[in-house]
Amino acid sequence: MSAELDQIAREVSVCTACALHRSRLKAVPGEGPDNAAIMFIGEAPGWHENQQGRPFVGPAGQFLEELLASIGMRREQVFIANVVKCRPPENRDPLPDEIKTCEPYLDRQIAVLKPKLIVTLGRYSMAKFFPKESISKIHGLARRRGDFLVLALYHPAAALHQPRYKADIEADFKKIPQLLAEAAKVEEAPGEEAPEQLSLF
Ligand code: URA
Repeated sequence: MSAELDQIAREVSVCTACALHRSRLKAVPGEGPDNAAIMFIGEAPGWHENQQGRPFVGPAGQFLEELLASIGMRREQVFIANVVKCRPPENRDPLPDEIKTCEPYLDRQIAVLKPKLIVTLGRYSMAKFFPKESISKIHGLARRRGDFLVLALYHPAAALHQPRYKADIEADFKKIPQLLAEAAKVEEAPGEEAPEQLSLF
């Protein structure tokens, strides 16, 4: 990781900005190479992540790795982070205040990484980019948000438990290679207006 990403991770690991630091075992800053083309953003650490201080290392992480393998990728090639860096007690949903307090860390990670594609996993990370949308409507559609192409997907943990989400996330994942190619094209032709929405059906 770059010095800046390391610095963010160090700050996260000792952060006391919200009450979640009292119940966490380990903060989970996120991880991945600083030249990653894709950044995945989940919701919050769960039990396994809280033990290890690493994102997506439990069953949802295993499924995420399978999804990556389905498009010929490994987790070491992508950056994985969360909206909230510490585990909410009993895996409850993160509170609006916790999300807001943690947001500057995520914003700094995005600014340093400048990924070609941001993939949101679940509704909390979707809401950062598409606050008024519903995930059942926009999953699998990529849209430009500022400098980034953002693809909203169902959360792998939800997909593990509900077969219809599983089929959707598997199909949506297959769009990633083409989206990356589109993003690279837009970068190579900076004068041209980028389409606001790329739907790949
Ligand atoms: N679920 C998430 O949203 N993030 C993790 O890191 C693990 C499970």
